[in-house]
Amino acid sequence: MGGQPEGGPAAAGGQPCHHAACVGLGSNLGPSLEILRSVGERLQAHPALESLRLSSPYRSAPVGMDSGHWFVNAVALVRTTLTGPVLLRLLQALEADHGRVRLRPGTGYQDRTLDLDLLLFDDLIIDSEQLTLPHPRLHQRRFVLEPLAEITPDWVHPLLGRTMADLRDDLVDVKCNQQVERLSWPR
Ligand code: ADP
Ligand code: MG
Repeated sequence: MGGQPEGGPAAAGGQPCHHAACVGLGSNLGPSLEILRSVGERLQAHPALESLRLSSPYRSAPVGMDSGHWFVNAVALVRTTLTGPVLLRLLQALEADHGRVRLRPGTGYQDRTLDLDLLLFDDLIIDSEQLTLPHPRLHQRRFVLEPLAEITPDWVHPLLGRTMADLRDDLVDVKCNQQVERLSWPR
């Protein structure tokens, strides 16, 4: 499948609605690779989620924050019966389970054991205080677009009308200062 939802949101015959979503995983504190792999397994095990693909991990220098800790990022493609806001709450609970401490809003980016962002949810466009979809910075971040383009290159950004592969290529052409290194999951 190309990443966009199949068959539209209105399932027939009283079946639960299935949505396709991309979740961004990031960590720059602690054993980042192990943390992300464990989160991938938690997503896989959740009864309301079906984990379809997990990208390779990618290592990158911090962007937009004053920190010496490098990041590891990955993206998971899931199918779910949850709504977008409920999925975001589940992701925030997983962050808390992994020791993520949120400082006051507006204090800027902080080092984090785990950051889970909802990147894409079907073709949904929302801009509320709790949830903005598509994630507002996904098209500017190579550490998000590389794993997205790896697992779902043909998913079309609902606002920009461009595929994840095209957005990744644009960024590589324009901002080659955002270096990312593709890693492998440890055995
Ligand atoms: P960041 O990921 O930008 O470093 P946080 O993880 O601390 O920031 O999230 C800050 C807030 O962003 C959260 O309270 C959450 O409600 C909000 N938010 C809005 N849209 C999204 C989204 N698509 N994915 C994740 N969080 C989001
Ligand atoms: Mg976040």
